[in-house]
Amino acid sequence: MFESLGNRLQDILDNLRKSSTLTEAQVKAAMREIRMALLEADVNFGVAKDFVARVSEKAVGQEVLGNLQAGQQVVKVVHDELIETLGGKAQQPNLKNEGNVFFLVGLQGAGKTTSAGKLASHYKSKGRRVLLVAADTQRPAAREQLRTLGQQVGVPVLEVADHEDPVTTRTRLAEHLQKDYRDLIIVDTAGRLQIDEALMDQLADLKGALSPTETLLVVDAMTGQEALNVAQTFESRIGLSGLIMTKLDGDARGGAALSARFVTGKPIYFAGVSEKLSGLEPFYPDRIAGRILGMGDVLSLIERAQQAEIEATLPKKPGEFDLEDLLTQLRQIRKMGPLGDLLKMIPGMSRMLPSEFNVDEKQIQRIDAMISSMTLKERRNPKIIDGKRRKRIAQGSGVQVQDINRLLKMHEQMKEMMKVMQKMGMGGKGGKMPK
Ligand code: GDP
Repeated sequence: MFESLGNRLQDILDNLRKSSTLTEAQVKAAMREIRMALLEADVNFGVAKDFVARVSEKAVGQEVLGNLQAGQQVVKVVHDELIETLGGKAQQPNLKNEGNVFFLVGLQGAGKTTSAGKLASHYKSKGRRVLLVAADTQRPAAREQLRTLGQQVGVPVLEVADHEDPVTTRTRLAEHLQKDYRDLIIVDTAGRLQIDEALMDQLADLKGALSPTETLLVVDAMTGQEALNVAQTFESRIGLSGLIMTKLDGDARGGAALSARFVTGKPIYFAGVSEKLSGLEPFYPDRIAGRILGMGDVLSLIERAQQAEIEATLPKKPGEFDLEDLLTQLRQIRKMGPLGDLLKMIPGMSRMLPSEFNVDEKQIQRIDAMISSMTLKERRNPKIIDGKRRKRIAQGSGVQVQDINRLLKMHEQMKEMMKVMQKMGMGGKGGKMPK
């Protein structure tokens, strides 16, 4: 997501940055290019126009042109306005101490049920007592999907009956809460492939009966501007408080995410970034703007590390970094998600990696397999791994002896590197990632 838009914008801005003073003509030409880049990324026409107008006004203003480092300042203006377009300050659903009801709506396939499970997991980890409600009165399969997710997350699921009317649902919910107190109810509703009048009526009735505190529309970023047409219809028929935009991990061009705030007037609260239950992130406009402009997103990187409970602890003495340590670290890093994605969060890195760059996850799995085929004694003291042992380990992990040789050599080099790092004071006595 945002990859080609990011590359285009970074190229345009790099050119501006190179010149220490800027003319109005230079800025205007750059703005035309930015507008094109936005439109090609499927950004709504009005949003693109407005964005460029705001940037132009500030960039051509007296305070920038003619100044030293004018190019650098234009970059800052673009960054600031990008944040503004994405929604400004990050917003989250309102939460009271009790009586919170989130009503999830959206088209079939948008990721509504998955998002209900993800939200349950997210809020459960924050100490909320969550109840999921499977409120599709027509599709038992949809209810079953939520039941399974509820089991995975470890929260109860209340299922409506076939063709149950909203008032009965409300009564059954109240009875359920009497027996089992919950402070956050997440309601997964029925969806259709397209906007459907009968469904809209049903949803409006159910909303009326349950009086939700938040009505969240789940939209699929891959459907581009169509997602926003859908949002406008839901807003006018049901009323919305915010959006959850799913599949931001896909190769959508990014237009929907960039246009949503202006087109719908609603904030994006969360972004879906994988199919897994952990794949939901609060939507931070500033971090996303930073990612688009290749400035990296170190905060998200740290958060992922914390989620995976990474303790990137360096051994006390560099000489102690053995293969067992290497294996532990590799596994911890893999918990954080695809390596390519992680690398791109490092400032400047997205520009350095070719677009087809893909960290070879298979290669890492192979290393894991090789080390796993060693005895603990071998891992702790790789020096004892002679020719005979190498052959055995290669057979055990389904690789060639040369691969084992290469791994041992890489490990030696890493050990050397750690010695240097330690001398430079990095990592020190078991330096940890910040908590
Ligand atoms: P619903 O019909 O709206 O309830 O949609 P589902 O929750 O069943 O999701 C439809 C498909 O989209 C499933 O295959 C999900 O795994 C997938 N999906 C949902 N959210 C995301 C996301 O953020 N990223 C990716 N890659 N897939 C997602």
